[in-house]
Amino acid sequence: MIWMQRPPAIAIVSFHSGAGKTTLLEGVIRVLSRRGYKVCAIKHSAHNETRDAGKDTCRLREAGAVASALLRADGSLEVRSRGADLSSAMDAVSRFNPDIVLCEGFKDSGLPKIAIIDHNSAPSLQLQSVVAFACRDVVPPAGGIACLPCDPTAVAEFIVDRFLELGHKGVLVDRYGRRILGIRMSLTQKCNLNCIYCHHEGEKSPSGEMFTDEVLRILRLARDLGIRRIKFTGGEPLLRRDLGGIIAYSCSLGFDDVGVTTNGQLLRERALELYEAGLRRINVSLPSIDAGAYRSITGGDLGSVIDGLEAVRVLGMHVKINTIIMRGINDSAVDDLIEFARRNSSMLQIIELEDLNLDKGFFERYHTDLSEIEQMLSEAAESVVERGEMNRRRVYVVRGLPIEVVRPVNNPAFCAGCTRIRITSDGRIKPCLMRDDLLFDLLGGIKSGWTDAQLKTLFMSAVAVREPFYR
Ligand code: SAM
Repeated sequence: MIWMQRPPAIAIVSFHSGAGKTTLLEGVIRVLSRRGYKVCAIKHSAHNETRDAGKDTCRLREAGAVASALLRADGSLEVRSRGADLSSAMDAVSRFNPDIVLCEGFKDSGLPKIAIIDHNSAPSLQLQSVVAFACRDVVPPAGGIACLPCDPTAVAEFIVDRFLELGHKGVLVDRYGRRILGIRMSLTQKCNLNCIYCHHEGEKSPSGEMFTDEVLRILRLARDLGIRRIKFTGGEPLLRRDLGGIIAYSCSLGFDDVGVTTNGQLLRERALELYEAGLRRINVSLPSIDAGAYRSITGGDLGSVIDGLEAVRVLGMHVKINTIIMRGINDSAVDDLIEFARRNSSMLQIIELEDLNLDKGFFERYHTDLSEIEQMLSEAAESVVERGEMNRRRVYVVRGLPIEVVRPVNNPAFCAGCTRIRITSDGRIKPCLMRDDLLFDLLGGIKSGWTDAQLKTLFMSAVAVREPFYR
């Protein structure tokens, strides 16, 4: 599913009837409306008719075939949907461009929940994406990420904090409390290699590429939203002639960290240009230092990568060698890679194969969980560091060489530490590498003439639905 601009939505649910759902919802709407937010409320309606103007409401207009909207005295909109068709109701609601949508009920909707419990309840924690428990005088069971009094002002504050002021606090935070500090942007899906392990950054069938000015606009928006790190990937980013300009612009925006991930085939020719554009940090993919093995894994020429590594070393760039480990292919060559990285004054990053966009059976055949390699490194290391902001990856320092181990598969700690969001080569925001059902069409918005504010809202919507893949 491709999400166009949709406001953040929250369902208020309870584990018991009579828990105070409606009262809480009404109170939260009142507080948010008083604070100037445009709120939409969606309510189930079993009837086909729309409600007539009452004392406190007047009919605004038909909001769609299956939903009707009422403007309430407090300035909020109430949308009544027939049956329980939340998706149509959300489509109708989005047309009013509210800041937030609050729904009553819709337990299984997949929306973030404010769940109300009371003191005798033993709630099932099967609800997906509970962001808060509103409780009456009890400590809630573990599982919710916040516990609030069952008080409209407290719940409204929580909603403002988590969903409405994301961009204004200088940093985006998702509903699991993960700050969004980095963007990994694919600049193309074209590549000059054909690596057997490549996951194509999780892209299935991209529809074209972004133009330079579109890339620059997204970078500026990201910077405005508090993103601090930017990494360009692909496909092969060095195939883009405008890469130098994109890097220069990124540096001018003041990102703390601007990086590129490359296969290194074109690095020697472009090293100086990229350095002069401001690039100081580069990741080079290198699955083997044996020319024959390198060619059979990638289809490319090892000599070109080695020349490229030498060019960036001479320039003084910070280099990280990325090696995906595959059982029976390169898992016995780790010592050689360590020595190679040390000779080249690079860091080494050993990466677990992820099961994404691979040929059928490839993962089962070649995946290894890196535990043996990590054991070997931990025995040889003089020190071990955990990188908090980078998926809690471990870095082993072996005879002065930092070796980072990246083990994402089935690893909730990795997802819990994820601070990055992705932009696909065709300009969609991709909240999680592993999922392609949640894509937010940023480029579509740009091409349709959206304002910066609208595009930022889309960013925030993408952040609001982020959830850990492994938990
Ligand atoms: N062409 C560039 C390159 O080769 O580095 C950039 C694109 S490549 C998709 C970016 C990075 O994705 C690689 O360095 C590698 O670390 C990672 N990668 C690719 N396929 C992977 C897989 N199946 N599992 C884990 N990481 C993978």
